[in-house]
Amino acid sequence: MKVTDHIAQAKGTLISFEVLPPLKGKGIEALYKHLDPLMEFKPSFINVTYHRSEHVFKKRADGTFEKVVVRKRPGTESICAAIMNKYNVDTVPHLICGGFSINETEDALINLRYLGIDNVLVLRGDAAKNETAFEPEPGGHKFASDLLKQVANLNAGIYLEDDLKGTHKTEFCIGVAGYPEKHFEAPNMDTDLQYLKAKVEAGADYIITQMFFDNAKFFAFVEACRAIGINVPIIPGLKPIYNKKQLTILPKTFHIDLPADLSNEVLKCKTDEEVEKIGQEWLLEQSKDLKKKGVPVLHYYTLGKPHVIANVVKEL
Ligand code: FAD
Repeated sequence: MKVTDHIAQAKGTLISFEVLPPLKGKGIEALYKHLDPLMEFKPSFINVTYHRSEHVFKKRADGTFEKVVVRKRPGTESICAAIMNKYNVDTVPHLICGGFSINETEDALINLRYLGIDNVLVLRGDAAKNETAFEPEPGGHKFASDLLKQVANLNAGIYLEDDLKGTHKTEFCIGVAGYPEKHFEAPNMDTDLQYLKAKVEAGADYIITQMFFDNAKFFAFVEACRAIGINVPIIPGLKPIYNKKQLTILPKTFHIDLPADLSNEVLKCKTDEEVEKIGQEWLLEQSKDLKKKGVPVLHYYTLGKPHVIANVVKEL
């Protein structure tokens, strides 16, 4: 079922989760163990992230280096299918521009339809580890809006090969990313919002946000979107704090701010257990407030901390 149908049929705020595919070399059992305690909350859908290949340099016996391609977390599509099969829940694979030619994207979309997947979250992806700025694959998409147009085309039965025109139409519900604190490459919020609007005009059905720790920023973002005519559902993305290192890692990696009230409390903690307690309380207050204000879905980045998310959702 489509994310937008879940929202349309809901009587209140829904719950959804986001997980990573297992690291290569690990089985799927750890992922099931991660999800098992969360399934009692009946998530409407589960997102599975996409992780592109990286180039790494391996030292040879003679001291020279060999450039090899490594993909640490393959399997987004099959993990979606496995989750659907085990838990009978809808899944949302993330699909990125980086590392894909348009032909490979088309094949990936066809495979997703064969697997019975109704949703995709369309993203650009970040720069590869060895690049300073995002570089599209030769013949690949430069922005999420370009990838989105390809998905929208396929939904209209327009394939890359002309002679396939007017055949099977896919029916993907398309989500895109939004940034309450601005995407780090955008020159300003207004410009970023105009590009977000372009994604909606190109066919995005809903927006899901980057994590944030200050609800005021989310509400201001929603208001700014509505003011420029972005009228699709906007789903807040939420993540708990559980160790002190996150105070520097999260702003650096995700280009977000942590409110002083939160960081001051975390700095007072002596152990990670204390930080986790603070993080859980903060997330619960955020969630209660967002629910009260009628957000369509609370989307939790569960990454490694399912019990924290479970405690929060239980309290809700
Ligand atoms: P875009 O919408 O393409 O925007 C990228 C930048 O370009 C922005 O600064 C925007 O303002 C600007 N821009 C957009 N269109 C144009 C245009 N036409 N001309 C000029 N500038 C333009 N990454 C992964 O690799 N895998 C994942 O699974 C993943 N999941 C994510 C889930 C969520 C909810 C979010 C918020 C992010 C996720 N990311 C993931 C990270 C994401 O790929 C990065 O944030 C990436 O840098 C931007 O992706 P985007 O889709 O927002 O890009």
